[in-house]
Amino acid sequence: MHRFFVDPQFISDTAVSFPPEQAHQLRTVLRMNVGDAVVVLDNDGQAYDVTLTHIEKRQVLGEITARYAAGGEPGTHITLYMALLKRDNFEWVLQKGTEIGVTRFVPLLTARTVVAAKTNKQERWQRILTEAAEQCRRGRIPELTAPQPLSTAAAAHGADIALIPWEEATQITLAAALAAQPVRSVALFIGPEGGFAESEVENGRLQGLIPVTLGPRILRAETAAIVAATLTLQACGDL
Ligand code: SAM
Repeated sequence: MHRFFVDPQFISDTAVSFPPEQAHQLRTVLRMNVGDAVVVLDNDGQAYDVTLTHIEKRQVLGEITARYAAGGEPGTHITLYMALLKRDNFEWVLQKGTEIGVTRFVPLLTARTVVAAKTNKQERWQRILTEAAEQCRRGRIPELTAPQPLSTAAAAHGADIALIPWEEATQITLAAALAAQPVRSVALFIGPEGGFAESEVENGRLQGLIPVTLGPRILRAETAAIVAATLTLQACGDL
């Protein structure tokens, strides 16, 4: 059944009046009919079963037939601090990270980030997150913040534990670092194509980030992001 995140202002106690973009998608793209059912999510923990009652050019309405807690969210909240990457690799991480269960994405600016951080694609990125969250049945759309420099992010992450996967950190695995203590929130820092500078890792370590290995092979940044998020959710019992 198709799922749509709809701003709560369009959801009343008994009905949903779909905003123009989604009305167009329902009517013209999906060619849905009166009587068809969809799931609506308010992105605040609630889900609604909705039966379409009106499908007109200017308006698509549906009647709420059931309401319940939206599922699909992991118990462990991962914030993925992801270095900006070239071409659509960063967008690939947004989509796959959403499917796996990342809660928040922070575009990271590091010494070797080659992408001009000014390439403000927030709106496009937000759409990728929303579509991925609808497709994989997330209960909420992952949050996306503005780009942050590594030093700021390392100081302000606020997570129970912060891990910085680094290919030179051969001593401790991500799983071992997570086994040390029960956690509800994890910050993951992934570097760009050129990796973190040693001084960045050292400064991060001084701020409490734990360098961990993801194995003896060098992963592309986008691969490392997905592997680290998956290993984290697995270690925390969310997969
Ligand atoms: N220094 C790497 C090289 O020689 O190609 C470049 C960095 S790698 C492409 C991008 C990021 O993925 C790194 O900054 C790190 O965060 C992560 N990464 C890749 N392989 C890793 C590994 N085996 N262990 C830990 N982190 C890894």
